[in-house]
Amino acid sequence: MIVVMQHGASEPQIQHVIERIRQLGLTEHLSRGEFRTVIGAVGDKRPEHQTILEAIDGVEQVVPIMKPYKLASREFHPVDSQVDVGGVTIGGGGVVLIAGPCAVENRQSLHTIAEAARAGGAAILRGGAFKPRTSPYSFQGLGLDGLKMLREVGDEFGMPVVTEVVAVKDVELVARYADMIQIGARNVQNFNLLSEVGMTGKPVFLKRGFATTIGEYLMSAEYVLSQGNRKLVLCERGIKTFETELRFTFDVSAVPVIKHNTHLPIFVDPSHACGRREFVTALALAGVAAGADGVMVEIHNCPEEAMCDGPQALLPEMFADLARRLADVAKAVGKELVPPGPRGRAGGKDHGERGAQIN
Ligand code: PEP
Ligand code: MN
Repeated sequence: MIVVMQHGASEPQIQHVIERIRQLGLTEHLSRGEFRTVIGAVGDKRPEHQTILEAIDGVEQVVPIMKPYKLASREFHPVDSQVDVGGVTIGGGGVVLIAGPCAVENRQSLHTIAEAARAGGAAILRGGAFKPRTSPYSFQGLGLDGLKMLREVGDEFGMPVVTEVVAVKDVELVARYADMIQIGARNVQNFNLLSEVGMTGKPVFLKRGFATTIGEYLMSAEYVLSQGNRKLVLCERGIKTFETELRFTFDVSAVPVIKHNTHLPIFVDPSHACGRREFVTALALAGVAAGADGVMVEIHNCPEEAMCDGPQALLPEMFADLARRLADVAKAVGKELVPPGPRGRAGGKDHGERGAQIN
């Protein structure tokens, strides 16, 4: 249910509604808008709850949310959400580019790739330190060493960093080094992991699973949001269909549907969707034309030596070309590419502070 407070409702009235929501065994989610306050009441609710809340002074109306996901729904939060990732705003009407290698491999190559990512126009650097691989014999990532390299290189180039976590036990560690924590397609329904990253309060980048419906995907988003963490970014990265020509099928229709159903920003990841570099640019352009708030792509200075996903990695000049063309498409849909921040430490924090802080 959404409790819509009257315009100008007083603070004691708002607090009283919150108290009553708690007494009913529900959890409140407060959203103070420019004109009025709305309070989400989420939990195992009964029909009489609506009547009780409607009778409280200062309440304008109580509206049930029809969708099974509540906090993620547009009904709860009609305007687009914005997520600040180390100083870069996602969902603010601009198009954000995230680029980097599939995996952090070594400092030198990460440095070269980050330089190319930034030069091409990426505002955020990506790179996996914990890799979810289909085979247990494949490279699993550098772990802590990879996180440290990513942090240092990101800081040097003034780029906030996003990296994946695959296990609950590593969430705290990854949260210490990352500006945004990625949950990959394979963990989209790992509900313990979703709750855990929700609890960090850090921005979360949640990929759609390749076999999850949009409805199931938004229920996964709800797990993160229900921990009180509103800093959530979604990403369409391709689904399984009967088509075998490409790695997955890029579901571009998911972009407007997700925009319609939720206020959360939505990215596209054409690299994992198609698996071949020659098609990445076309899909990226299509994603932004369909309304995506950003694009995540994999790039590599020497894809044939990449430890994973080499065939889909763009070369630096291909990435720069993609960014130029994307700027035109962004303009056509009334948006602009968000430029990288100033060089130097991303987010203006030193390693010590960052290391000590999990917020
Ligand atoms: C990735 O981004 O590195 C990745 C593994 O993506 P996905 O979870 O979409 O396969
Ligand atoms: Mn990859």
